[in-house]
Amino acid sequence: MRSVCLESSADMAHRNIPIFIPHLGCPNQCVFCNQRSISGCSSFQRENVIQQIEQALSTIPDGTDTEIAFFGGSFTGIDRELMIWLLETAGRYVSNGRVSSIRLSTRPDYITPEILKILSGYPVKTVELGLQSMDDEVLKRTARGHTAKAARDACRAVVDAGFSLVGQMMIGLPASTPQKELATAKEICSLGASAARIYPTVVFYDTPLQKQMAEGAYQPLTVEQAMDRTADVLEVFLQNNVPCIRIGLCSSEDLVSPERVAAGPNHPALGELVWNRYYYKKMIKTLTDRGLLGREVILFVPERDLSKTIGQRRCNIEKLLRETDTRVYQIVGDKAQTGVLPIERQSAEKLLKRSKRTCI
Ligand code: SF4
Repeated sequence: MRSVCLESSADMAHRNIPIFIPHLGCPNQCVFCNQRSISGCSSFQRENVIQQIEQALSTIPDGTDTEIAFFGGSFTGIDRELMIWLLETAGRYVSNGRVSSIRLSTRPDYITPEILKILSGYPVKTVELGLQSMDDEVLKRTARGHTAKAARDACRAVVDAGFSLVGQMMIGLPASTPQKELATAKEICSLGASAARIYPTVVFYDTPLQKQMAEGAYQPLTVEQAMDRTADVLEVFLQNNVPCIRIGLCSSEDLVSPERVAAGPNHPALGELVWNRYYYKKMIKTLTDRGLLGREVILFVPERDLSKTIGQRRCNIEKLLRETDTRVYQIVGDKAQTGVLPIERQSAEKLLKRSKRTCI
């Protein structure tokens, strides 16, 4: 049973208490969505909400920055009385100091001046918008039911109303391309997002996308393709100082079990693989820029980036050798480094003799 969600490894002191509201308030059926699978529960029961919050709070250490987070559907589109009840219930936890704020996720076309006014009356800090793509053709093919303009307008309205905006986007949707995904990420940044989530598309059972796949009209990405495309999008966010608080579905919540997912890049450590690929690409670029591709090198790496640079089971080092004939003789963890610095082996060894840096 899910109770607490760690948002980001870079932000260890933050916890979300997720309350999942599957499909309530959702006006349509996006082709990729089986919200019952995505939210991990088949029904919502109001009477369980307080118990869920209390149970989650009992596991969270004092002093943790905690948010009650309404995820899973289209929060601002649910029955108005229920929405207000949930906001008031969560608001009481903020008033008594047990949580710091409220977070919610919704559809762009369910952001209106009236909704924003209601949300402003409660301690809502963050509004997450399921944008998925900023390309009209992709939105149409995925039956999102709104345009890219509606998504842009909603982002601006959320930011203008003083909320923190989190942009959620997807990789590998029907009609999408790497270029459209990079453009979407750039737009999310320029529209003022304070964070992003990236979800490579997986094909859930009982969805229109599964039907499209069976008919040959949709080809899901492989894990390898998803790693590549997501790593490039991740780079856009990082270049724009927009932290990425989630890559891929949460593997700890049995969403990615074979009973739920029919196809697609469904890997339990997809986020980690994407980070590995991001670092691999950075390594290739630096080696190329310094004319060291295909040589024997020693890598000087910021200590905090060591494991991501090396990759799971040394996958990046082996890929580098296999694909570029670049042999990494040593990797040196160096607190002073801000990025990967490759130096040709002989020159690097002279440097190392004069220092006491740790080697791997
Ligand atoms: S709007 Fe959200 S909840 Fe509704 S079908 Fe689309 S992805 Fe699922």
